[in-house]
Amino acid sequence: MESLASPGNPGLCQHCAHGRTLVNKRGQHFQLCERAKRDPRYSPYPPLPVLACPGHEEPGQPE
Ligand code: SF4
Repeated sequence: MESLASPGNPGLCQHCAHGRTLVNKRGQHFQLCERAKRDPRYSPYPPLPVLACPGHEEPGQPE
């Protein structure tokens, strides 16, 4: 599974309440899915771009 995200298009994760973009000291971008902390169906570092995801929620949308 691809774990490194390019700084390009992460897909749905970019505008998801559960997505977080991390940048390391070398400027590499990682897309973290925080749903993975409590739901094993999700990968903490999903293959990108994510084009469809049942867990996607807009920021500010109640779970
Ligand atoms: S729930 Fe889906 S869309 Fe949202 S951050 Fe996780 S993998 Fe990306």
